[in-house]
Order: sequence, then C-alpha cells, then structure tokens
Amino acid sequence: MPHVSSVPEPFDVSALLRSLGSAPSERPPVSRRDFVRIVSAAAAAVGLTGAAAGKVVEAAVKGVKPSVIWLHFQECTGCTESLLRTSHPGIGSLILDLISLDYHETLFAAAGQQAEAALHEAMEKHAGKYVCIIEGAIPVKDNGVYCKIGGKTALDIVNTVAAKAGAIIAIGSCASWGGVPSADPNPTGATGAPDVLKGKTVVTIPGCPANPYNLLGTVLQFVTLGTLPALDEKGRPKWAYGRTIHEHCPRRAHFDAGRFAEAYGDAGHREGYCLYKLGCKGPATHANCSTNHFNEVPDAWPIGLGHPCFGCTEQKLGFRVPLHDTVDIERPTPPDTYPGIHEPTGTIGAVAAGLVGVAAGAVATYGYMNSKAIDSDAAPASPKQERS
Ligand code: SF4
Repeated sequence: MPHVSSVPEPFDVSALLRSLGSAPSERPPVSRRDFVRIVSAAAAAVGLTGAAAGKVVEAAVKGVKPSVIWLHFQECTGCTESLLRTSHPGIGSLILDLISLDYHETLFAAAGQQAEAALHEAMEKHAGKYVCIIEGAIPVKDNGVYCKIGGKTALDIVNTVAAKAGAIIAIGSCASWGGVPSADPNPTGATGAPDVLKGKTVVTIPGCPANPYNLLGTVLQFVTLGTLPALDEKGRPKWAYGRTIHEHCPRRAHFDAGRFAEAYGDAGHREGYCLYKLGCKGPATHANCSTNHFNEVPDAWPIGLGHPCFGCTEQKLGFRVPLHDTVDIERPTPPDTYPGIHEPTGTIGAVAAGLVGVAAGAVATYGYMNSKAIDSDAAPASPKQERS
C-alpha cells in the first residue's frame, strides 16, 4: 500500500445517496414531531422498552452519532442490501441519520488510499468507542491468503479493527460462523468472527440475510445506553433469537392439527398447511422472522412465502443440513397457555414520556410483543450485556 501523504475529508455518505436519489436532503423535511415519532417507532419495533425508547429519542434529538466501521469479507453483501431496503419507518435513512458511517466498502465512493485513510482516521479518532460491524466470513486457511483488501488479509484487518472497538457485531450467518463460504468442503477455511476473535464479546446477528431490525436494535442500545443486550451461548441477542420459529409460526395450528403440505404445489401447500414434511427447520431454528417480516412487507419471510425455513440462523443447520431433510421436533406439543390478549404493557418513564409525547401510544402497542420478549430475558451474561 503506497504511503498516505494526507488525510482526505471524511467520506460523505449523504453525498453518495444524493447521487442515487435517496439522500436525506432529497427527502421531504421531517418535523421534530415526526422525527420523534419515527425514532420511537423504530426503537419499539426492535424491542426496546418504553424507557429505553425514550433514551434513544433523547440521544437522537441531541445529534449523538456514534462512529461505525463496517467491514466486508467473504459474503454476497445481502445483509447490507437488506438493511438498505427497509422502508418503514425508513430505517435505511434513519440509520444514516443516527450513526456516522465512517467506513463501508459497499457504500464508499472513495477507494484505495482515501478509503484506507478514512478507516484509520476513524479508528484513531474514536478508539475504544466505535462500533465494528463485520459482514462476511473470514478465511483462515493458509494464513488467510484467500481474502485480501488493500494488501492485508481479512484475518489481519478484523484483528486490527476489533482491537480498538467499543462493540463488535457480526452481521449475517457468514460473519457469525462461516455461512455459505464455510459449506463443505470449505476450501478456504472460512469461519466466523467469534472464532477468530476468541476472548472478545462478539454479538452475532445471524440470518441469510440477517433481519436488519435485529442489527438496528443492538446498535441503538449500545449507542444510547452503552450496553449490549443479553446474549445466548452463541452470542445472539435473546430478545430476537430467544424462541424457535416453530413456537410462533402462523402455520403452527396446521402442525398441531396434523395438516401438512406433502409436495410443492399440492392442495395442502396451496391451503397454507405446515411445511414440516418439506424440510422446514423451524422447530429447531431460533429467530424472530415470523414476527419481524423483512422490509415491512407482510409475509416477506420464507415460510410466509410458502418455503420451508432453511435454518440459516443456526450454526449446525443452514448450509449444513440438506434443504429437504426434516429435523427433530424440540417441542412437539403446543404450550399449555398462550399470552393473554390484554396483558399490561409496562410503564414509560417521565423523561421518555415527555420526549416521546404523541409517540408513546405507538411505543406501548407497536413494541409490545418484543418488549415482552426482552422483559422475560434471563439475567444478563455480563454487566455490559443488559437491557434497561
Ligand atoms: Fe411453521 Fe415449519 Fe413449524 Fe410447520 S414446521 S409450524 S411451517 S415452523
């Protein structure tokens, strides 16, 4: 890499988006009231409680924008694509308004020396505070020679950038544990960030692609509260990955009644029957796809579109077990009781109430299901991993 003689101006993501016709400046002006409403709805949608949502709003109104360094390795960029295509309440735009995206190889107009300089400037300026987001698997075979950027291996880059990060997030199944690149026979020795960064806390947001709301919720919590969510043994936020798809699948009643699609396009398939016999991995897959559909389009998730769950959020299922193989049923019978329709929704603190104002109702209702999931989390794994 040639010597970098001068540090260029930080890359302006908004300028790039303006050229693409979707820059914040080209959107209709957002009033403070609408901004508060949007941020509140976003916070609630990702599972933050009323009080936490209020803190998000406070931080957003103050213009607190944490530095985010986004690394790409062996992947298809599907997680970035999915994030950018969320449309309501405009999360793609909102995340650009809420964070300072200081390095992102897909969105960068800069290249070569300028990109390298921006990366190092952000690392120095925000050492110990920036959020390092890793997308893609990291090849470790033959000293990682199979993935190089700017003359450095992915292995070197991830170790260097993660060393000074305030929080590390692996987005997608590839970054979490290898995903597609690690499928048998895994010729490059592809693996996930937690495997490379042993001893560090790495939040995993698996999925192919990952649900962007799960990333957003984790980032918002770190930004506003300085903590990470309670994680399971695989590093996944419990609020998003605490239950199996099967536990809250809209086709569950058909499973319980013994009504199954036997083949694609048969009468049962057309009637929306359970997809277990077609290889659905929902009974062994922990994720919230069934309650947080993609891109805010109703039923935009595999089972909603008539395809069996592939198990992409599970290390030992997606890209490991053949698509049409069936899995063991962890919980063969439905729960004894279902949540009541009119359960209490908790309280919203005074500060939050004052800021959220008209949005409080939306927080209490829109975020109800996810808030319940957070409230039921077990004790945090460490002092830094908790929800307020
Ligand atoms: Fe839904 Fe799959 Fe469970 Fe059937 S097996 S109820 S389709 S998660």
